[in-house]
Amino acid sequence: MSRYKDAQCRVCRREGCKLFLKGERCYSDKCSVARRNYAPGDHGQRKTKLSEYGTQLREKQKTKSYYGVGEKQFRKYFEMASNKKGVTGENLLQILESRLDNVVYRLGFGSSRAEARQFVTHAQFNVNGKKVNIASYLVKPGDVIEVRESKKDNSTIKANVEATATRPIPAWLERNNEKLSGKVLRLASRDDIDIALEEHLIVELYSK
Ligand code: SF4
Repeated sequence: MSRYKDAQCRVCRREGCKLFLKGERCYSDKCSVARRNYAPGDHGQRKTKLSEYGTQLREKQKTKSYYGVGEKQFRKYFEMASNKKGVTGENLLQILESRLDNVVYRLGFGSSRAEARQFVTHAQFNVNGKKVNIASYLVKPGDVIEVRESKKDNSTIKANVEATATRPIPAWLERNNEKLSGKVLRLASRDDIDIALEEHLIVELYSK
């Protein structure tokens, strides 16, 4: 999968908002968006008005960057969302939130989605007692995600749990600090997703 290889903060600055790509730094005053909230590059401070297509495209790119998903997979999620009952844009976000790497991040076991993805692909987690090393695995209500017994001394995961102790876990998830586990209470709803995304623009883009 191709991913933007340049500094992650530049991605946030291009999108004009915090995408939380770098772990603890994103919550500190070192965040580049907090310090320089304009696009990177020589002409970054110029105000340019985007076309309708450009606005829709930027929203899609922002969402892909936020969840760390490539174009092919993102398109597949859109098709899944369109085939589900309900509002396509909200379905799309719910599917993205259900990815195992996102859930591991939301539970505070990874400091960023990228780190959470690495933990998952390196087989650090069980889902319902079985090893799952597929970052795109979609969780369901009732699923229990737990650090595997042999990995429970992973100092980075423990440090992440400590660092996020004061940060609220989303209402659709529950974390057990002692067991280093979490439970999916229900699927995420639109209100649970805190980043300002206009998902209807993505639907409009793909519906052209
Ligand atoms: Fe960088 Fe994180 Fe701030 Fe984005 S949110 S600019 S990745 S520090």
